[in-house]
Amino acid sequence: MQLYNSRLSGLGYSLNPVKLLAFIAINFFSNFYLFADQEKSEVSELTSTKVGVVRIIGPGVFDYQSKDYLIRMRAWGVAFPERGQPGFEEAISFTEQKLLDSNLTIQIKKEFDRQNLKVVEVFTQPDQVNFSRDSIEKGIGWHNEDESMRNGAFVIAQLKAKRRELGLWKYGRSYGNAPKDKEIPIPLLRSMIGRNPFSSSINYWVTTFGKVHRPGCSFYERGRGELSRRPTGTNCRICGGTSPKSK
Ligand SMILES: [Zn+2]
Repeated sequence: MQLYNSRLSGLGYSLNPVKLLAFIAINFFSNFYLFADQEKSEVSELTSTKVGVVRIIGPGVFDYQSKDYLIRMRAWGVAFPERGQPGFEEAISFTEQKLLDSNLTIQIKKEFDRQNLKVVEVFTQPDQVNFSRDSIEKGIGWHNEDESMRNGAFVIAQLKAKRRELGLWKYGRSYGNAPKDKEIPIPLLRSMIGRNPFSSSINYWVTTFGKVHRPGCSFYERGRGELSRRPTGTNCRICGGTSPKSK
């Protein structure tokens, strides 16, 4: 600890626990290089401290063990599908693959969010890749523009992912503008109109995301959803939903 203290003051760090944590994280990877000329005993003492990501809680959310605390953290500027939504499993795997057992650099962006998570930027080895940007660029998550204040690199990463229809974008849904994305309750009148006796005899498949598929479509009765003769939602681009393209 003494070693840290002297180095910390030398670099102008105050000793508040948060900065200390960030400092430890930053130095965890570089211990060997920085202390290469130190006594061997000191090196082993430092590296024996189990500091790092110990558990993945969800996409972009993880438990970080510092020397003294276990802290739950969330990657800044990126949002991910929730359990049960398309892409959730991929997002979990991606998070595990990138953040578990890895030497990370962590920078704190916000002390705590509404869920009491510390919001951080995470840079993965060996190339100091920004985990949030990486997730967005691969369509694993989408850009949380409000949080990042429209971070330019994230904006570009998302444009790329959308253009290539990577990951989430292959589902043809729009992500990122939170209020518009919320499930909007169907107005009563509209659902009443839907019950007219002359309505279609076709039983459509409506996913929980409001995509409408007709029988025969490869997405019919796939995933979560329900059957409906008067569906409301967005017609599938492939089968055409309620308005199929005439052959
Ligand atoms: Zn379809």
